[in-house]
Amino acid sequence: MLILSFAGCGSESSTEIFYAMDTVMTVTVYGSGAKKASKAAYNEVKRLEKLLSVTDEDSEIYALNHRFTSDVSEETAALIEMALEISRETDGAFDITIYPVSLLWGFITKDYKVPPADKISEALTHCGSENISVSGTHINLPEGYMIDLGGIAKGYAAEKVKEKLLGMGINSAIISLGGNVQTIGRKPNREQWKIGIADPFGKESSESIYTEDSAVVTSGGYQRNFTHEGKTYHHIIDPKTGFPAESGIASATVICKSGTEADALSTAFFVMGKDKTEQFCSSHDGISAVIIMQSGEVINVK
Ligand code: AMP
Ligand code: MG
Repeated sequence: MLILSFAGCGSESSTEIFYAMDTVMTVTVYGSGAKKASKAAYNEVKRLEKLLSVTDEDSEIYALNHRFTSDVSEETAALIEMALEISRETDGAFDITIYPVSLLWGFITKDYKVPPADKISEALTHCGSENISVSGTHINLPEGYMIDLGGIAKGYAAEKVKEKLLGMGINSAIISLGGNVQTIGRKPNREQWKIGIADPFGKESSESIYTEDSAVVTSGGYQRNFTHEGKTYHHIIDPKTGFPAESGIASATVICKSGTEADALSTAFFVMGKDKTEQFCSSHDGISAVIIMQSGEVINVK
């Protein structure tokens, strides 16, 4: 996703560009106190990175994955609960227990390979969100299970940054955490924010969305992939097959109020395909999507 336009001059503004959660992040805050607020945004993302990382040995998720049972913070427990809820709502298309399969494909370590089919089938026996139990802050995973919040953590972080900035009295900001965009209010000149959706085929930004006070999150196979013997394999796994999802979608962009929901749903829609995405959006108020198909067709859902 590319941010196509910024507000004009005239008011105080501050931009922080940094690397976190394996991606480049940009936070631009307008109005009085902008500098302090953008610093606070950076600190908030770094705090969440430490809490939710799957690879950092000091994170709560790492501890859980290596002990199978663990007490976590209320915040982590609530986010896991939310991920499980979205898993149920999307009939398992979004599933944080897909981690053992992502590891096999090398998508976590960037040591990409096509795993043998029997290894994928074996790893799939350790997947299924319905087998996780959450009791208050106590999480229990069946042995061999591991969770990965990579499909939801950036959107959650963007939403938490939004809350932090609102608490500091900020009413105009744009937060872009590796393509997970969350906006606060409007641009200082009162225009809506213009968010460009990256062209999944690598050309210039193709579509754009005008929005205010919303999250705009894109998932696409172009974001991380490798090619083996002429075939391209990307990082979004279909939990039903253990292979990169092949739904015909090149990228799925979700627009809704909550960054957390937008992040998880964009991953899910990519797996679910066009028809199920249309059904989902028509039965859930406040959620719309822009689907770009492999054929290049652009579908505005709701
Ligand atoms: P995103 O870029 O938000 O679409 O999330 C993709 C990341 O989520 C991957 O890099 C994996 O860490 C993880 N992931 C892959 N497939 C799934 C899935 N079906 N459900 C939930 N998380 C997934
Ligand atoms: Mg996602």
